[in-house]
Amino acid sequence: HLSQRLKAVANYVPNDSRVADIGSDHAYLPVYLLKKDLIEYAIASEVAKGPLQNAKNEISKENLSDKTDTRLADGLLSIKKEDGIDCVVIAGMGGILIRDILENGQSHLNGKELLVLQPNVGEDILRKWLMDNYYSIINEHILREDGHNYEIIEAQKVNDKIIYTLEELKFGPILLEKRSPVFIEKWQNEIKRLENIISSMDNMKGPKPITKINKMKKEIKEIKEVL
Ligand code: SAM
Repeated sequence: HLSQRLKAVANYVPNDSRVADIGSDHAYLPVYLLKKDLIEYAIASEVAKGPLQNAKNEISKENLSDKTDTRLADGLLSIKKEDGIDCVVIAGMGGILIRDILENGQSHLNGKELLVLQPNVGEDILRKWLMDNYYSIINEHILREDGHNYEIIEAQKVNDKIIYTLEELKFGPILLEKRSPVFIEKWQNEIKRLENIISSMDNMKGPKPITKINKMKKEIKEIKEVL
């Protein structure tokens, strides 16, 4: 019963890795990976007690307690050196929250971990943080499920900073290259959304919010340029 979204996230977790799933809730992702024997070990970590209990219940139901630890902690603070974590998953949250978790928990990373991130929104802000902190975006994926678009960003720390253009930060450097049908549809829908707002503003009586309208027109132009 794993969602397509989490299945796609699972695809980006390397085989035999030791995974920290931050904000694990029901621990569906680690349970799926462990049941398929794809990974060695997982930490299901949560900042909230209710979700942590969900994770505990799921893990004991599936008899996976010997390969899993559940931890109550804020973000990456659940990761200890001796865990030997080599893949950190942060999925199903806003990009700003994922960025804050990475920013606040940097001292708990050794810089060798693969990051598998799945922001629901705010992807550009997350990519900017990755760039500023010497991460290279090594893979990206976009999928659509239940009327939502989800992006997956895989990142790895590098020695030399990689500079992404504003366009790459907004659309995703790899998504831009792949130009998948879901990607095209996402941005076509965004154009439609902006056009609808503009036309309703144009129909307003009285003074129109010209600056806002112009900003949206500029954004439409930017999107059209990459499609
Ligand atoms: N990762 C799962 C997924 O993708 O389906 C669950 C996503 S759920 C919407 C987000 C979870 O992140 C919540 O259970 C919440 O308690 C947890 N969370 C939010 N902030 C967190 C933080 N700073 N550290 C750890 N967990 C956090």
